[in-house]
Amino acid sequence: MNQADFPLLNTTHLAWLDNAATSQKPQAVLTAMTDFYSTTNANVHRGIYRLSEQATAAYEAVREQTRQLIGAASTTEIIFTSGATAGLNLLANALSSYVLKPDDVILLTPAEHHSNLVPWQLQAARYGAKLEFLPMRTDTTLDLATLANRLHDRVKLVALAHIANATGTVHDIQTIIQQARQRSIPVVIDAAQSVPHRSINVQQLDCDFLVWSGHKMCGPTGTGVVYGKQAWLEQLPPWQGGGNMIRTVFLDHATWNDLPYKFEAGTPNIAGVIGLGAAIKYLQTLGFDQIQASTETVYHYLLDQLATLDFVQVLGPTDRTQRSSIASFVVPGVHPHDVAQILDQHNVAVRAGHHCAQPLLRQLAIPATTRASVYFYNTTADIDQLVIGLKQVYSTFHGYLSRTNSGAL
Ligand SMILES: *Cc1c(COP(=O)(O)O)cnc(C)c1O
Repeated sequence: MNQADFPLLNTTHLAWLDNAATSQKPQAVLTAMTDFYSTTNANVHRGIYRLSEQATAAYEAVREQTRQLIGAASTTEIIFTSGATAGLNLLANALSSYVLKPDDVILLTPAEHHSNLVPWQLQAARYGAKLEFLPMRTDTTLDLATLANRLHDRVKLVALAHIANATGTVHDIQTIIQQARQRSIPVVIDAAQSVPHRSINVQQLDCDFLVWSGHKMCGPTGTGVVYGKQAWLEQLPPWQGGGNMIRTVFLDHATWNDLPYKFEAGTPNIAGVIGLGAAIKYLQTLGFDQIQASTETVYHYLLDQLATLDFVQVLGPTDRTQRSSIASFVVPGVHPHDVAQILDQHNVAVRAGHHCAQPLLRQLAIPATTRASVYFYNTTADIDQLVIGLKQVYSTFHGYLSRTNSGAL
């Protein structure tokens, strides 16, 4: 569906199956950015002239669009960043300085993207705190039977992905948020793999913070969003200093601007945010129900097809309701880089490697995987192209496999 809207997909025979790394961009997003630079380019929140006012209005209109996208109470709760990584670093810095004391604990999962692990490691080291991890089953689902004990008195922060990027496993964030809420522990949700795919309402979820990237939802690279409950954002100190985030500056100190500007230091990615606004509009015009349904049709076809290949082992839960849009797999005996290279010769783009989740793969005792990830514009033809490529992988390596009989990893 809609491949014609995407110049890159329209002009190549590429089966783009690396959507978990980034999505392709529809013409509407490219046009919005070019139009901004051609007709409205000025810095925001600064000039007392019409062009700057227009640029500011266009930029702030996207904040309202974003608020509405996730059902936030107010635009003061929407902070633009350069991506999920920047957003998670912002929160790790601001939150840790506010809540962490020596021997406190940050609770994570073993399946986090490095972006939702390393920033917390840095802060834990800085404040003498520790990281703890929710237990995970071998099918990569979280074991929440002992959740109440895991949320013990020293736990001051919880951070986890809604959907794990390496496997597509959907975490039961609702249960975790509810139980953390009862203990007044703030929860950060890394929604980089969920906001592009499903409709999210932060007030229903009742999470304190939600972070994602623009570029995995048809928006440009260099854009991202932090949602934070107003009461939290008001208490937290700023992370980065500079223009825009201040109210009054003296030689030896400064006071902070109102929300959300307190957390937006310096000239933002104005054209990028405008492109993100066009992406949100594009997705909302399609409708998230339709996006989810189209993606799921192709995704289930992908899982069905992979299941017919007895030389392929798919990671993650077998229950499809606990999975989303990502199939991470191994071909025993064949390195994922070789798999991806042969697939590339068949014009199929997939990711091979550790998917920024080295601790997860270490726990599963798998050095690397091949990952195919779909979005609404993929078709079953893209999957057929992948399957042809995978059969080529098998026939290329079959002699080697039958000689060494290396069934196990
Ligand atoms: C992609 C991703 C990130 C990092 O996003 P960037 O856009 O690279 O900053 C973090 N968490 C998850 C779950 C992701 O999929």
